Amino acid sequence: MPDTSPDLPQPTGLRPATLAVTAGRPERVADNPLNEPITMASTYVAGGEVEYGRYGNPTWAAFEEALGALEGGRCLSFATGLSAVATILDLVGAGGRVVAPRHSYTGTVMQLADLEARGRLEAVLVDITDTDEVVAACADAALVWLESPTNPALEVADIPTIRAAAHDAGAYVVVDNTFATPVLQQPLTDGVDLVVHSATKYLSGHSDVLLGAVVTNDDELYGVLKQRRDLVGAVPGTLEAWLALRGLRTLHLRVERAQANARELAGRLEGHPAVGEVRYPGSGGIVSIVLAQGAMAADLLTRKTSLWVHTTSLGGVESTFERRRRWKAEAATIPDALVRLSVGIEDVEDLWADLERALDALT
Ligand SMILES: *Cc1c(COP(=O)(O)O)cnc(C)c1O
Repeated sequence: MPDTSPDLPQPTGLRPATLAVTAGRPERVADNPLNEPITMASTYVAGGEVEYGRYGNPTWAAFEEALGALEGGRCLSFATGLSAVATILDLVGAGGRVVAPRHSYTGTVMQLADLEARGRLEAVLVDITDTDEVVAACADAALVWLESPTNPALEVADIPTIRAAAHDAGAYVVVDNTFATPVLQQPLTDGVDLVVHSATKYLSGHSDVLLGAVVTNDDELYGVLKQRRDLVGAVPGTLEAWLALRGLRTLHLRVERAQANARELAGRLEGHPAVGEVRYPGSGGIVSIVLAQGAMAADLLTRKTSLWVHTTSLGGVESTFERRRRWKAEAATIPDALVRLSVGIEDVEDLWADLERALDALT
């Protein structure tokens, strides 16, 4: 943390690049380490605030402080993104209505379908780009789930308009901010109640960690979610939190570079005859393409590159891609020949040369 001695000027309104580097550090005291150490502890000496390893850990707390500063709220870390999603969906009372994008992350849609099948809630899946449809669906909702941009369709929601309609209906509003990251979008400033992350992706950024997080500036919601997290034990591993915090220190640099590469590649892909459609929302590091010659061409592409790795997941320093419909759980409204590209931070000319060679081989 910045030095908070009373005789020093106290900076306010720090920008994301500064917060990513400075937030969540140990106190500036002689011989303290600059970085939060990995505290491996299942139990603590009685009489304090933590007591047991399921209720807290200084390494998680440092990660939570840093992500909380970036999103503008209080952060709770979770074992995975999906355990954070499940803990939020558990806020919905019996039979409550949840509105969500039909192209939300598959795991989120699967959780909603499972809860609905067991009579726990009613899920209403909408086209998130059709703001009128979404606003109409918000009436009687208990919770409105937004993901913007969506994975992998890359649709963008009108967050302020939907947020207002949802609040008029008395619903909580959640934004899954995994794709944009707080470098590009801070939904709490639009008045949403909860931001959720798969910290597995950009926040950690090196394809070596599973972690989730929720951020809110509603103290009551924070308390309820912490109690549920601790009750079910959906807590992160200490090493995971430490690696995520280490990754977070370069978040802004990685996102900026991935975005610059993605913009350049999206433009070049538009001009390639093997590519029927390019979906790029104008920001971020994810580009989806639909191969002109169908699913077989898409599968072939994923086997013809030497730099681009065929793999699921996204948001790492390395460029990866995947035909999403190879998963049975992916929405049938996602084109069969859609390949989602997670653009990394390599040199864009090398990335393009590799991709172009493989695309040329298809035509
Ligand atoms: C990966 C992902 C999740 C799930 O996170 P895990 O860490 O894999 O559990 C949720 N939302 C989005 C947008 C994702 O990409």
